[in-house]
Amino acid sequence: MIKDNLLKINSRINSVDHKHQVTLIAVSKTRSVDEVRVALDAGQIHFGENYLQEALEKIELLQDKDIVWHFIGPIQSNKTPKIAKNFDWVHSVDRIKIAERLNQQRPKVLGKLNVLLQVNIDNEDTKSGLFVDEIEEIVNQLDNLTNICLRGFMCIPRPDNSADSYKRMAKIMTKYPTLDTLSMGMSADMEEAIANGATLVRIGTDIFGKRMQK
Ligand SMILES: *Cc1c(COP(=O)(O)O)cnc(C)c1O
Repeated sequence: MIKDNLLKINSRINSVDHKHQVTLIAVSKTRSVDEVRVALDAGQIHFGENYLQEALEKIELLQDKDIVWHFIGPIQSNKTPKIAKNFDWVHSVDRIKIAERLNQQRPKVLGKLNVLLQVNIDNEDTKSGLFVDEIEEIVNQLDNLTNICLRGFMCIPRPDNSADSYKRMAKIMTKYPTLDTLSMGMSADMEEAIANGATLVRIGTDIFGKRMQK
């Protein structure tokens, strides 16, 4: 089932005309370590997690595997030491304080931590992320932090007009030619995201099935 779903997702990715390479992140929040293993055995390499404690348990159990771990959930500042130590990518940086802590806490032996700034692309009150007019200042500030590497942006648009949101995100991206990563697209709208330049798509439901509430 998970294996078939991965095949289907990969062919959905290939069905969209795109110039950039697109990497599939299997969002494994709420999923068991056994489900992650099934995906891993089917060749999946990138996994995304939202909840730190749950993620750390899986990372520990799977430490002998070649997995690229992405942290995609909201970040409270007391969580940054463990995020800096255990993940390869962080998609949800939305204030300078968090970036500074990750930079300070990233162990040098692990190399730079890949960071994306989360953008509240539809200016929603309830959603985390930077407002569009805050992006430029924080991008400049991140230049001075040498243990993290700003790679691009992540957004979670309003579901009702996500194609339009992805277009706006892509346009912002063109202002930053040194950045190479756009994390956007979930199960319901990944094709729209890829058509607008997504390089990382984050898929949970269409790989592992419907989640229980969390
Ligand atoms: C849960 C989650 C996803 C995956 O969503 P699906 O609709 O299950 O594909 C992607 N991104 C983030 C930030 C998430 O929290």
